[in-house]
Amino acid sequence: AMDSTPSENRSDKRKVIAVVGGGLVGALNACYFAKRGFAVELFESREDIRQAKVVRGRSINLALSHRGRQALKHVGMEETIVSKGIPMRARMIHALNGTRSPIPYGKKGQYILSVDRANLNKELLTAAEHYPNAKLNFGHKLLDWSIESGAMTFLRPDGAKEQIKADLIVGCDGAFSAIRKQFLRQSRFNYSQTYIPHGYMELTMPPHNGDFAMEPNYLHIWPRNTFMMIALPNQDKTFTCTLFMPFEDFEKITTEEEVMGFFQTYFPDSIPLIGEVAIKRDYFRLPAQAMVSVKCSPYHMGDKCVMMGDAAHAVVPFYGQGMNAGFEDCLVFDEVMEQFNEDFSVVLPEYTRVRVPDDHAIADLAMYNYVEMRSHVNSKWFLFRKYLDNF
Ligand code: FAD
Repeated sequence: AMDSTPSENRSDKRKVIAVVGGGLVGALNACYFAKRGFAVELFESREDIRQAKVVRGRSINLALSHRGRQALKHVGMEETIVSKGIPMRARMIHALNGTRSPIPYGKKGQYILSVDRANLNKELLTAAEHYPNAKLNFGHKLLDWSIESGAMTFLRPDGAKEQIKADLIVGCDGAFSAIRKQFLRQSRFNYSQTYIPHGYMELTMPPHNGDFAMEPNYLHIWPRNTFMMIALPNQDKTFTCTLFMPFEDFEKITTEEEVMGFFQTYFPDSIPLIGEVAIKRDYFRLPAQAMVSVKCSPYHMGDKCVMMGDAAHAVVPFYGQGMNAGFEDCLVFDEVMEQFNEDFSVVLPEYTRVRVPDDHAIADLAMYNYVEMRSHVNSKWFLFRKYLDNF
């Protein structure tokens, strides 16, 4: 049931909200605005991922935590997503000699969920589409927009350009946001972007005898000081392993022998689990991907445009909070809308005021954990081992 509230003492519900970007945050945001009864137009540069054969994204799976769940719950999507997630109740630290030791996340019973990115995105698009007042436009790549007129210029797959106007533009077009380009031309817009020296690469660990190759309800970590590997479980009983390492180290490995030597030295216990053939194949399949941290403020321009998700705050993935923070953006914006009766001229500056400090804190924590995960987890593990050795 679409429980859109009656519009008597509300702002004009015929207002058109353009959500630019149909990734995780854009798709969820479309639900939020549609639930309020606005005329929502979502524009996504890619074709509909629900029809595509191969979906190219940023990571195969990700960790959904409390703040993300709260945001999903508000539009009735929590259970749908949680039911397809795999609980990770603790970290599982893999030592060089193959010993595994769990480190709990928090109090007993607390856990985070490993969810499939493509499925999550598809479910959110479908949920948005269920609102009669929301329309999804795929194959629309935003080229530019005008703050004066609110007009956006889109490039269609056939090369044609299309001009579209909206009352409010919501930029959810990710870390390399085209919406943000207009912000950069404005006076008093603060912006910083940092590429970390590390890249990441994904490898798949297949099931063994029809079951998970390792304990499924953990986030597995192989901390190795300057680099590390992690593994998150998938519904199909595979694990997605992600190797995080400085680009210069990735570049040193150029032959199959060198990859195997590297795994033999640093992740020997993972070789029989991933498989030698797969390691040799996957390592050279795609180059390591870069990771960028973006901080900016304000998040809005006048009463015309606001940015959320990675467009406003791309963070390094070591805190597992990028998507979760983006989801929370939608919830916080919705609360501010409620508080200020959907008056964009008040809502947008207030959103910037309350949201910038929190998102910047998450960016800082993520950068801190970038160091913590590959080194400190290791030293904590040594302390733990020492403790056990005493018995
Ligand atoms: P995106 O997911 O990047 O979506 C942006 C969308 O906009 C895309 O669909 C794109 O096609 C579209 N688009 C781009 N440009 C245009 C344009 N010009 N016109 C129209 N459409 C456009 N977060 C977590 O919370 N937990 C994790 O465990 C986690 N793990 C991660 C692991 C890795 C390796 C990485 C790289 C990130 C991880 N993140 C994680 C972060 C998470 O991926 C992002 O925060 C999240 O994807 C942000 O969603 P978004 O919708 O803002 O941006």
